[in-house]
Amino acid sequence: MTPDFVYEALPQRVLFGAGRRHDVAAEIRRLGVRRVFVISDSANGNELADSLGDEVGFQVAATWRETAQHVPEDLAARARAAATAAAADAVVTIGGGSSTGLAKVIALSHDVPIVAVPTTYAGSEQTAIYAITGGRHKQTGKNALVLPRTVLYDPELTLGLPARVTGPSAFNAMAHSVEALYAPGANPVVSALAMAGVRAIHGSLPIVMADPGDLAGRTDLLYGAYLSGMALGATAAAFHHKICHVLGGTFNLVHADAHSVVLPHAVAFNASALPDEMAMLADAMRATDGDAAGALWDLAAASNVPTSLAQLGLQRDDLAEAANRAASEIGPNPRPYTAADILALLERAFSGDRPSPQRA
Ligand code: NAD
Repeated sequence: MTPDFVYEALPQRVLFGAGRRHDVAAEIRRLGVRRVFVISDSANGNELADSLGDEVGFQVAATWRETAQHVPEDLAARARAAATAAAADAVVTIGGGSSTGLAKVIALSHDVPIVAVPTTYAGSEQTAIYAITGGRHKQTGKNALVLPRTVLYDPELTLGLPARVTGPSAFNAMAHSVEALYAPGANPVVSALAMAGVRAIHGSLPIVMADPGDLAGRTDLLYGAYLSGMALGATAAAFHHKICHVLGGTFNLVHADAHSVVLPHAVAFNASALPDEMAMLADAMRATDGDAAGALWDLAAASNVPTSLAQLGLQRDDLAEAANRAASEIGPNPRPYTAADILALLERAFSGDRPSPQRA
């Protein structure tokens, strides 16, 4: 029986498909803005940014090419000052989660709309979540001002995304869908979206890793990432995400790499408390033995993405601090946990072995 639920859909215009990048100028005009602050940080992103130089109806008031993961506070301060100096009334971001994250902190302080053109699978363009990092702490918040007004997904822009970014970024997206099954705000509509996201990612990631130039595979993967971003946007960061935030904010691990390592272990930890959700997840990944955590680890290993925290440069001595910080930030979780449980999870993720099912 379908349970009672509350679902708050987020307001946003989305254009999806190969070649959609050519609609960016028209979409900016549609917002009626005049002075655009354009953020980009990769070769094809910069090329698209440069093509916006001479437009009818608006002007590029400034361009910005410096971005960093987790949005360091000094970078945020400088970008905000540049947006003020340019008298920007909109931000266009063409890039991954780092570009989108910077656009969000400007939107937050300047109350201007964002047009986002994502070039990775991070999914930040689908959420009202922003982050700023200072003093080894990643502070996140939620505010409707930072949700991009318009998003243009063009899989052709992702054809050149290197394999070392593609695989982990796809796991970042996968994590959004997995956690949407049980995060605060979870509901059947979002679960349906999330499982469609998992199916799209699970089906397309091996194709894209084998042939990064496969446009059909890239299109499916970007679609899966879009759905997964929506799933996060409609729920909240939960158990696994909070652990990854600590690994990124305190130890400066690459966000997507941390996701690809931790996700199978976080799922293995929670599985016993989520039998129905795990059955759905296993089904979406065609795991006939019902072991969703194992299927995620297998996909990671087959996609050549990092599977151990040691591989990411974390030291064994860091695990206790990471566990204590995460335990104080996670909040409610389907399976009760202690800092010692998180430490044990991180130790398994550190060695990188395939997770085995756990008893509650
Ligand atoms: P990223 O934006 O740092 O991009 C990774 C690298 O790929 C960069 O060097 C970038 O220049 C390059 N790149 C991006 N697109 C490219 C392309 N098409 N071709 C070639 N190179 C390209 O990394 P990310 O994983 O996309 O984003 C991570 C950040 O996003 C983290 O700070 C994370 O916290 C944040 N994030 C936020 C949310 C949210 O809802 N707020 C959700 C997910 C991620």
